Amino acid sequence: MAEFFIRHADATQILLFAGAISLLWAIEHLVISLPEGEKLRHTGVNALFALTALPIELVLSAACLAVSRETLDHGLGLVNLFPDPSSVWVRDALMFVALDLFDYLYHRLMHHVPPLWRFHLVHHTDQHVDSSTTVREHPGETAIRSAALVVWTFLLGASFEVLLMRQAAETVFAILAHSALRMPPGVARVMGFLFVTPNLHHVHHHNVLPYTDSNFGGVFSVWDRLFGTFAELEAEDTVFGLDTHMEPTTVGDFGSLVAMPFAQPITGASGKSEPTNPSLAGAASALG
Ligand SMILES: [Zn+2]
Ligand SMILES: [Zn+2]
Repeated sequence: MAEFFIRHADATQILLFAGAISLLWAIEHLVISLPEGEKLRHTGVNALFALTALPIELVLSAACLAVSRETLDHGLGLVNLFPDPSSVWVRDALMFVALDLFDYLYHRLMHHVPPLWRFHLVHHTDQHVDSSTTVREHPGETAIRSAALVVWTFLLGASFEVLLMRQAAETVFAILAHSALRMPPGVARVMGFLFVTPNLHHVHHHNVLPYTDSNFGGVFSVWDRLFGTFAELEAEDTVFGLDTHMEPTTVGDFGSLVAMPFAQPITGASGKSEPTNPSLAGAASALG
């Protein structure tokens, strides 16, 4: 059984991804009512990004596997410096955590380097965050993210099994993080101590700074706590989108979104405006 999933890793991941998003999407829309036309238009735009991502993901995941095999064959990578190389479980767990840290750093870079932000902001322009937002990623960012993973795999010497585990965990957490349905506060607090929850990732999708630049974590929320980028915000105070890109016809049009990195005007260092609400400005200094 496990052998079958490993041999058909790409197909398994795609099916897992599509199945989980569809199921959650159906539940979300039973609970949260959006006008039918708007719901379909929104999901349609995001689904188109899944189609553009697919060929890029397939090519670069094959590159990732080839790099993983080479580094393993030649005993390369930071994994060889880990303290307990004799225990496979400890080594795999450390590799998993290291890959998640790389993911956190990658996400911060996407926000803070202006040319990268131009691509990443497309994900943030969604004004109705739900499970379909998970796949709303500009193809340029899909290429950058997948290429970064090839580099991490080489630097770390990550094994195929860990890459697969990490990919599966990232998929589950990414879908969960974008769920329109928040967790009950008590459950979210306990789970959010270690892991990313929808309640925490919704803060990242709030339309003004400093919240847009908080909660960068993929699977673990501990990186945000450690590096001072952790923030919380109640549902009623959360407004999805980007204050610099709130024009509904532009952010709801696939062609405009694909053109956005090449056309959008840049305000400030990263294209994000400064907080205008005094209470948010106070939070900005609190976040550091
Ligand atoms: Zn982001
Ligand atoms: Zn997101």
